[in-house]
Amino acid sequence: MRSREIRLAARPTGTPTDGDFELAEVDVGEPADGELLIRNEIMSVDPYMRPRMNDVRSYVPPFQIGEPLAGGAVGRVVASRHPGYAEGDWVFSMLGWREVARSDGSGVRKLDPDAAPPSTALGVLGMPGLTAYVGLLDIGRPEEGDTVFVSGAAGAVGSIAGQIAKLKGCRVIGSAGSPEKVAWIRDELGFDAAFDYKETPPREALRDEKLDVYFDNVGGDHLEAAIGAAKPFARFVECGMISRYNVGGPEPAPRNMPLIVTKRLLLQGFIVSDRADRARDFFRDMTEWVRDGKVRYRETYVDGIENAPRAFIGLLQGENIGKMLVRLA
Ligand code: NDP
Repeated sequence: MRSREIRLAARPTGTPTDGDFELAEVDVGEPADGELLIRNEIMSVDPYMRPRMNDVRSYVPPFQIGEPLAGGAVGRVVASRHPGYAEGDWVFSMLGWREVARSDGSGVRKLDPDAAPPSTALGVLGMPGLTAYVGLLDIGRPEEGDTVFVSGAAGAVGSIAGQIAKLKGCRVIGSAGSPEKVAWIRDELGFDAAFDYKETPPREALRDEKLDVYFDNVGGDHLEAAIGAAKPFARFVECGMISRYNVGGPEPAPRNMPLIVTKRLLLQGFIVSDRADRARDFFRDMTEWVRDGKVRYRETYVDGIENAPRAFIGLLQGENIGKMLVRLA
């Protein structure tokens, strides 16, 4: 069967460009015994893919030049010689960035399209949702009445983290990069306060705040501002530092690092893939919260595999509200 896929053509320097990607057409063949063919319908683009494009070994190995990229995707089984899957089944796999994938079933998970729209397996009920859940609840440990600051608050992870904090009875402040995003998190998601960091620097916006928890998606100036505004013993959930992903060279440290000592702050990084033990609790709670309208989510779609690089570049530049997805079918 014919398929198109996106390969890494060159390692990006700074912000990726169209020339760093190439579209290729391949024959994926037919499934052998024990294999299945998946036609992807929707694929995810995620910030962590940017550091994976550098030639640096991190908690995941780097993407290789000339190889197809990979990432979360949902689609339907179009042919199966695997006992666990039948034609028509909806599945999640890590075989994104291609239209059709041949698999032996590793990393493939069946989805129930009647329980939730399949796209949610890439967002609110998938990896970004779990990230928000374990980061906020297990590291942030919010208590009723706490003040919680979330950066990247209109994105896939941040929008969910902020809403969970609201459910826990916290006062929630969010930062995001446009007036439309600020209006969405404040007026529709129920954040108590929100600011556009491109208009008001975080240090100024947080001047009168006393933070118990900071959920950090951004790093840089946001982290420095949150250290300045933190109460003694505040918890910092170090989830991501997207302000640095396209920037080479040494990382500038927050200039107020000594406050980490004097305020006795707890800063803890985490990687969601280490927390599979929380997947069951997460899925139970989040399914209920979404069903009851207590957690709301939004998706931004770009159409066509050929536009997946544009969706990815757009994600890094803030073109998404909620989860950035690519519709393939
Ligand atoms: P988002 O949906 O939040 O999309 C990325 C957003 O980042 C953009 O929309 C943009 O929004 C914002 N952004 C880009 N550049 C900057 C900048 N210089 N300063 C401030 N904001 C910026 O992505 P995700 O929700 O998927 O990921 C959010 C964060 O969580 C990332 O840092 C990611 O790496 C991290 N993450 C960590 C995981 C873990 O296991 N630790 C797992 C999953 C995600 P805006 O318009 O507001 O600028």
